[in-house]
Amino acid sequence: MPDGPVETTTSLHTAWTTDIGVPELERRLAEQRLQSEQLRLLGTAVHVAEEGIAILTPAVEAVGPRVAFVNDGFCGMYGYKREDVIGQTPEIFGIVERQQSIADALLHHVFETRPFAAEVTAQRTDGSEMEIDLQLVPVEDAGQLTHWVAFVHDVTMAKTQVVSLRHQATHDGLTGLPNRTLLFDALEAAITDAREKNAMVALLLMDLDRFKEVNDTFGHHFGDVLLRQVAFRLQNQMRGSDMVARLGGDEFAMIVSDAADAQAAALAARRVLNALELPFVVEGQVLDVGASIGIALYPTHGADVRSLLRGADVAMYTAKENQSGYSFHSRETGTRSPDQLALVAELRVAIERGQLELHYQPKLHLRSGLMTRAEVLIRWNHPSRGFLAPTEFIPLAERTGLIRPLTDWLLDRALEQCRAWQDAGAPVHVAVNISAKSLLDQDLPQKVHAALARWNVDPRFLKIEITESSIMADPAHALAILAMLQSMGVRLSVDDFGTGYSSLTHLRELPIDEIKIDKSFVGQMTVSDADAAIVRTVIHLAHDLGKQVCAEGVEDEATWKMLCDLGCDLAQGYWIAKPMPAGELMQWLDQNSWGLHRKSS
Ligand code: C2E
Ligand code: CA
Ligand code: CA
Repeated sequence: MPDGPVETTTSLHTAWTTDIGVPELERRLAEQRLQSEQLRLLGTAVHVAEEGIAILTPAVEAVGPRVAFVNDGFCGMYGYKREDVIGQTPEIFGIVERQQSIADALLHHVFETRPFAAEVTAQRTDGSEMEIDLQLVPVEDAGQLTHWVAFVHDVTMAKTQVVSLRHQATHDGLTGLPNRTLLFDALEAAITDAREKNAMVALLLMDLDRFKEVNDTFGHHFGDVLLRQVAFRLQNQMRGSDMVARLGGDEFAMIVSDAADAQAAALAARRVLNALELPFVVEGQVLDVGASIGIALYPTHGADVRSLLRGADVAMYTAKENQSGYSFHSRETGTRSPDQLALVAELRVAIERGQLELHYQPKLHLRSGLMTRAEVLIRWNHPSRGFLAPTEFIPLAERTGLIRPLTDWLLDRALEQCRAWQDAGAPVHVAVNISAKSLLDQDLPQKVHAALARWNVDPRFLKIEITESSIMADPAHALAILAMLQSMGVRLSVDDFGTGYSSLTHLRELPIDEIKIDKSFVGQMTVSDADAAIVRTVIHLAHDLGKQVCAEGVEDEATWKMLCDLGCDLAQGYWIAKPMPAGELMQWLDQNSWGLHRKSS
């Protein structure tokens, strides 16, 4: 065995010289033969081990440890010849210069006779680098340090796998951009850094304006290609110290660290918007996709990751709503109670994940008692807050622009349900509520048309309820949109009538089919003469104008009867039925022969 460290210098000498008997001598000789055989085997094992093994002499005084032995594995790993390393210092481990502190720690441990272990980058003789797992273990004999054994493991492969796994976990597979996780970490770091430097960080959240259309029209593959192109352009707009991430879908985020002021952040947003202005070409198709950007600044709009994200999110919807390209987190839209801000963020998720539910409340024809329609009323089954009434989140949705996706979703689901009922032999007509903001949406008629076509529903099956006040917010505009809807064959209703300030003459001009008397008058009409007078007047007026009247909030039989006497056409209220899920409505219709039994009561 060449230059092995494992010398068989046991006390043979003593055995020969001591005065002992022959049997004892033979026993000891056999024992020693066994020992040397074991040592030889061990030595061979060490030699052929793939692992790099080195044995070093202990440090003596100021002289550091010296290499006494290395195995083939060690030489192969580094590209050393054995003779080059014997007698050398621990420098042979080749720890790279940038990890000098680890090399220092190693020596420190050796001088203090403490085991040492570290994962380090080491350089081979040819200059290439590898990741090694290095362990140094002291070997003692009778309490005296005799040697150090070093084990060197090449973990480059395993490390690369870990690195690639980490990359997968922190990057978006489609665009290769950092994902949400990495963005959060980077934002956290940027905030910490800015706090120390008294600097500013800008968070930009961006959402493409017409991405869904592209996806729906040309397919997902198309959408994917577009997203990659968008990612590429975004990256080109950012400096090295900034980060562009894809949060999912068509949503991107950018961190502009050390933004000097709001102006700088606005500039970055404008740069991004400009970069997207040039049309995209996907498979020969020329596509125009705008974007909306919401900006939140540290420390102006928030001191932590969560509040900045929420702020930017709200601002993004403001930008979308105002079609202003970009928008800052503002006191008016954003800095409400943290609770409300949380609600905005959660509502967005709820729309995406379908946590919103539709309930249906029958509208009955008073004279026949038959159900004419079901009003669609939205509910939010919030994971922690329980069922939320629309009044708790619709106004918020309106202020933040979330009302758009909400209305899109609502129309789609209500008509899907309408189609399902028809297919099941129950031709239920539906009435959906459209908020003031949605009424101002130029695309509303187009969206309604698309949803009707998608579910193959006759336009007459759909009624749209708009509150009196939302019409009055911009009467000329509302009139134009309503006229378009009417020309499509969709039925229209003025909701909450009596609570707004519309002059009665306005009603004449509006292309509406129905007037709904607000429940605040209906509820008290049997006990308040004034309310009864209002209800009576509205009924007469509506009939004069050729419109139908619906009374909402019928809570008892007396009200129902009085409405019958006044010649009201339709009624709706808890006394007839509360709003209920689609399935229950079918049961209700079955049990009540479409509401018929009410006629007799
Ligand atoms: P609304 O359009 O006037 O709807 C009637 C409201 O009165 C509903 O409340 C309904 O559950 C309730 N109601 C029905 N019968 C009675 C009754 O006999 N007595 C009383 N006191 N109340 C009754 P809900 O579902 O909480 O909706 C409140 C408002 O939220 C709605 O008023 C509507 O303006 C809005 N809303 C509901 N769903 C939607 C929606 O899908 N989109 C939009 N934009 N707004 C919606
Ligand atoms: Ca309504
Ligand atoms: Ca109403």
